[in-house]
Amino acid sequence: MPGPLKSEAVVLRSIRYGEADRILHLYTPHRGRVSAIAKGVRRTRSRFGGRLEPFFRLRLVLHEGRSDLLTVTSAETVEGFARLRADGPALDTAARACDAVSRLFDTSEPHPDVYNLLCNELALLDADPRRAGHGNQLAFRLKLLLAAGLAPQLASCTSCGERDHLSGFSGAAGGVVCPACEAGSFPLDGAAHEFLATALGRPLAETPAASERALRQAERAIAETVEHHAGIRLREAVAR
Ligand SMILES: [Zn+2]
Repeated sequence: MPGPLKSEAVVLRSIRYGEADRILHLYTPHRGRVSAIAKGVRRTRSRFGGRLEPFFRLRLVLHEGRSDLLTVTSAETVEGFARLRADGPALDTAARACDAVSRLFDTSEPHPDVYNLLCNELALLDADPRRAGHGNQLAFRLKLLLAAGLAPQLASCTSCGERDHLSGFSGAAGGVVCPACEAGSFPLDGAAHEFLATALGRPLAETPAASERALRQAERAIAETVEHHAGIRLREAVAR
């Protein structure tokens, strides 16, 4: 039997299982996305307390069994994000961030940068729940795309290299396009183009403000890029 595995993890999902157990979807820095079972967690005197809930950042001891499912034997809280947890929009934004990580990085391939990005997002929402919302969600997704090697090309036409009059976006081409190369693209306003470029280049804490119209176009650019190049559909970035 291999020894115990010690790892930090963020709880992406926590699903009731049987009478007293939970199945956890976890994101770890060095083992990517893993699933684990925590036994007896729903009993009132469980040693895990209430910490095996979504968005908790934990220090875990996990045991490997015969199946893919690890068993949680110990869990300490690194961050509980209490303020985030008390705010509806922040909870919704955190859930969509966890869902995007889960869909784009659903294997055991290690991406410590993605783990750090997710922890940073949760910490930002906890420090100021007013950050929650469409712009923050899209900036987070752009950084996930960057980590996945799917960042859209924004500086020049993806097809011909033209640097001016970039008025469209093509998910299939993976970036902005000029009028001569616009087949299969949709119109992208200057404000949406600027949001994409600025959000990609700045830290998450400095996400620029943009109009809802620009954000909708930016979301479409992100969604079409992910669909064409990773075959994945993301949930909408805000509740509609
Ligand atoms: Zn072109």
